[in-house]
Amino acid sequence: MSRLIEELRKLPGIGSKSAQRLAFHILRSSDEDADALSSAIRELKSQLRLCSICNNITDVDPCVICSSATRNNRVVCVVEEPTNIASVEKTRSFNGVYHVLHGTLSPLNNIGPEQLRTASLLKRTALGEVDEVIIATSPTIEGEATATWLADEIRGVGSENPAMKITRIATGIPAGSDIEYADEVTLSRSLEGRRNL
Ligand SMILES: [Zn+2]
Repeated sequence: MSRLIEELRKLPGIGSKSAQRLAFHILRSSDEDADALSSAIRELKSQLRLCSICNNITDVDPCVICSSATRNNRVVCVVEEPTNIASVEKTRSFNGVYHVLHGTLSPLNNIGPEQLRTASLLKRTALGEVDEVIIATSPTIEGEATATWLADEIRGVGSENPAMKITRIATGIPAGSDIEYADEVTLSRSLEGRRNL
């Protein structure tokens, strides 16, 4: 019991109380439900990984978007989380590729530059493989801070492609909200109205 509570406590947003409640819930649940939970975790870890190019969640590496012949891999849209890719895809107005940061800078939650996954993006931009980086983090305080920081980082590393642009999506999206909840039209307009950073 204490082993399970200890493991659950490692999950984000789960404190001691919640971990105990979840552990008791699992103890009382049927064998089938407990097995389904543990096998879902095991299969997730054995079958899914992060794309070595864009960090999207995938079962093949590189992911289907990075390896697609019909997409423009010289235009990279940077998002916070893998789920944001689906939101941008729904707009049907973007035919480039992605880069997933897996978070935003957030001093309150102890997320600093080291926690964000930027290495493979900086490699692509440095080698001159990119014409435009579109930073599509949410228009929240954290998202804006991350966008500014990332643009500086990309410029700091430099690029073999002197014409490379760094742009930020326009905020047709209400300030302070998450792009995950933006509708297709708003998000599509935000992409069209992007500006240089
Ligand atoms: Zn990929």
